[in-house]
Amino acid sequence: MKTFADRPDSTAAERRHLMIWLWRNYLARHWPLLLVAVLFMSLEGAMFGALSYTMKPMFDTVFVGGQSEYLPLVGLAFFGIFTVRAVAGIIQKVVLSKVSQESVSEVRSDLVGHLMTLDGGFHQTYSPGYLMQRIEGDVESVNKVWRSLITGAGRDVVALFSLFGVAFFIDWRWTLIALVGAPLLIAPALFAQRFVRGNARHARDVAASLSTRVNEILHGIVPVKLNTLERYQAKRYRRLTRERIRTEIRSSAGQAAIPGLIDIMSGLGFAGVLFYGGGEIISGEKTVGDFMAFFTAIGLAFEPLRRLGAVSGILQVAAAGLERIKELLDMRPEIADPATPRAIPDGVPEVRLENVHAAYGDTAVLSGASFTARAGEVTALVGPSGAGKSTVFNLLTRLVDPVSGAVTIGGVPVSEMKLGELRRLFSVVSQDALLFDETLRENIVLGQDDIPDDRLQAALEAAHVTDFLPRLPDGLDSPCGPRGSNLSGGQRQRVAIARAILRDTPLLLLDEATSALDAQSEAVVQEALDRLSKGRTTLVIAHRLSTVRNADSIVVMESGRVVDQGTHDELIGRAGVYADLYRLQFDTADS
Ligand code: ADP
Repeated sequence: MKTFADRPDSTAAERRHLMIWLWRNYLARHWPLLLVAVLFMSLEGAMFGALSYTMKPMFDTVFVGGQSEYLPLVGLAFFGIFTVRAVAGIIQKVVLSKVSQESVSEVRSDLVGHLMTLDGGFHQTYSPGYLMQRIEGDVESVNKVWRSLITGAGRDVVALFSLFGVAFFIDWRWTLIALVGAPLLIAPALFAQRFVRGNARHARDVAASLSTRVNEILHGIVPVKLNTLERYQAKRYRRLTRERIRTEIRSSAGQAAIPGLIDIMSGLGFAGVLFYGGGEIISGEKTVGDFMAFFTAIGLAFEPLRRLGAVSGILQVAAAGLERIKELLDMRPEIADPATPRAIPDGVPEVRLENVHAAYGDTAVLSGASFTARAGEVTALVGPSGAGKSTVFNLLTRLVDPVSGAVTIGGVPVSEMKLGELRRLFSVVSQDALLFDETLRENIVLGQDDIPDDRLQAALEAAHVTDFLPRLPDGLDSPCGPRGSNLSGGQRQRVAIARAILRDTPLLLLDEATSALDAQSEAVVQEALDRLSKGRTTLVIAHRLSTVRNADSIVVMESGRVVDQGTHDELIGRAGVYADLYRLQFDTADS
């Protein structure tokens, strides 16, 4: 499985670019709400300064000065400050949460939409589990960062300004002493940042491998059970989780190091001020109120300072996530609409391959295949497994593009049609009809909600869905289960046929089930397919004797080439590959 891990670390400039990109594409449009959030955060932050300064009158006027008539006033001031802080805090959190949820959903929707446009090659390279982790985990880590950035910029910076303002106002020398440890912080903090970044990336990759594993295990649960791989898979999974724990712990240790350093520095500052300022208070140069207000201000500054220190760590984690998100969004599909698309052919067109070479990566799959499927006829593709029959389907629908040669429909090369229009020419009925975890009705109409009832009913009957409908608990509204698991193979195929009837396209691609349906199902499905293919150009990857025999034309494929084409009788008469294949494959069925 491919990951993005093998790339060098991003530079600070790259990270800045990423943040600007995030801002432009997903956050800027929410600026009015963000402004509201920042305003309330600032209000919340300013209350910290107010709180520390109120210490001065409380001590100097009330406690030491003994002017008890001011006591209620000071009490009221405290109450007011806490109330404003609480209300502002609630408002900013709710507003920020709204912006955060909306922007995260936008990034996720964009990612999912974009992934669907990417080529088959891409999806073979990156596993679904890996991509799911990108969509869930990476987006979440990015979300976390900008929230802390904004909270940092809004509440914490204002809080620090107000708190240091109070501290400076009381005594600028004390403040400088309190900050004396700061320069010592720089080198270790930079080191911790690098450490966090490296581990954060690795942690994201391990998380992706983990979800890949789960995805594969759950998709392959039947083979896992049949091969008694439960213990083996559980062991592999556990090994990966241990790896994850290690990297996550390292990453958290790095992230915790920066606020830790700030703590140590603050301790140093405290001791310094006490040492220097203690004498001034004893000698009466400074009041107890000064001292209390100063220490409250510096004490309250820890928390925002710590959080701001942690922001840089979170920033490193988010950069790792954001890099990947952007990298995915920047990928362009190779198979895309042509610059000047041609109109799709009218009516029921013929299909032609001319000297087509095709490959998956470096593996050549078709080497000079040519044939014509005449308009309105049924053309069967036969040949041993791996001959390239499915690849022909993939070329026609442009799931892959040929290396060379021409693939045309009604004389128009498929590469010159708009992708959407090209694919709307086809209905595909295959052995693994993709069913979604929705109701049967939704699975059949596939988003076409305006199909009249009588048309739907006719399609259900023609596809013999009505045969098994009464046996389902809620008829058309019965859920199909994950990947259609509540339906049998034959039933899934009939759903696919009903879809095809409703799509009513001029071209039909059938991929017959290799595993035999029971005789009754087979007869029913065959009858439905025969009806469906009337008046359409039909290509069928044939495994059934009846299909092969009744096809108007048979294309015999072997090792990526078309070795013969003709009717059943013609091909048998020639005693070539087809006759051999026929005997080998269908002898038992024939007898
Ligand atoms: P058939 O349908 O006749 O069994 P296919 O067209 O599916 O043959 O496959 C032809 C060859 O291409 C096989 O050797 C198969 O292993 C290879 N192949 C098919 N699909 C892919 C793919 N997505 N990536 C790499 N190789 C593939």
